[in-house]
Amino acid sequence: ATPTAVMVATGKGASLGVLIKGGNALQKAHKVKTVVFDKTGTLTVGKPAVVSFELFSTVSEEDFCDMTVAAEVNSEHPIAKAVVEHARMLRLKHGSQNDQFTEVKDFKVHPGAGVGGKIGERAILVGNRRLMQMSNVPIVSEVDTYVSENEHLARTCVLVAIEGIITGAFAVTDPVKPEAALVVSYLRSMNISSVMVTGDNWATATAIGSQVGIKKVFAETDPLGKADKIKELQLQGASVAMVGDGINDSPALVAADVGMAIGAGTDVAIEAADVVLMKSNLEDVVTAIDLSRKTMSRIR
Ligand code: ADP
Ligand code: MG
Repeated sequence: ATPTAVMVATGKGASLGVLIKGGNALQKAHKVKTVVFDKTGTLTVGKPAVVSFELFSTVSEEDFCDMTVAAEVNSEHPIAKAVVEHARMLRLKHGSQNDQFTEVKDFKVHPGAGVGGKIGERAILVGNRRLMQMSNVPIVSEVDTYVSENEHLARTCVLVAIEGIITGAFAVTDPVKPEAALVVSYLRSMNISSVMVTGDNWATATAIGSQVGIKKVFAETDPLGKADKIKELQLQGASVAMVGDGINDSPALVAADVGMAIGAGTDVAIEAADVVLMKSNLEDVVTAIDLSRKTMSRIR
């Protein structure tokens, strides 16, 4: 494209809230055949909330909540924030007056899995099924049933193990964005296929996929795994766009032909991307591709 055409198109994009960083991205976007979406914070609103809670042993609810908060309050993960909020509320319900929580020692973050530490003499682990498996914590059938039921409802489960025994669990829901399904079907009408990659578990990911109309789902992928998926799709001959919001999406945003960051996402993702969707609205994935198609057809 001529420099003038690029300038006009990037200016048009900016006025629509689609920030295109330079002519290269603009020239590549019209060829996109596959759009890969991250799940949490990209297809979903990214504001998880606890919708169910269960205790599996005779531990007091107050003691359980106290320990859970002590561990999760140290985590930056949005799921941790939802769990802390709910456990605090449960404590208040028990008439607990103070908001002083026990301190956790040896706090550890297990990326894409959860957190752990020690409270007094007791070890605590808070996270997903994979975290429990890695730590040799048995998942008894009662827990397994709770987790499966909730995952099929598109919820993510947070398990809490105290001294190696799963004592309780929370189920967290993060609704899909209202425009997500429409965007996926609109892309299909443009002959562009949609794919999902996520660090979350398979059951939840598949359930969210069916809510938005995405059949091709890759779950339990770490940040480099997400980038590998992009490269795999490129090897199959497709020009690939990646849409993401998290630090864990940045390798994939760089690997993609066109990386698109959600404006409300992390700075790291915004840095790594070629296009920033300032309104955080998925319709602007189409806006960006459209703008590129129009610019390129005017030139040829
Ligand atoms: P995503 O790709 O969906 O953004 P992440 O890689 O951040 O997901 O995390 C993957 C999964 O790890 C989460 O869905 C959750 O089950 C678990 N997890 C990570 N951190 C925590 C935490 N602090 N508390 C509970 N669960 C966690
Ligand atoms: Mg995300």
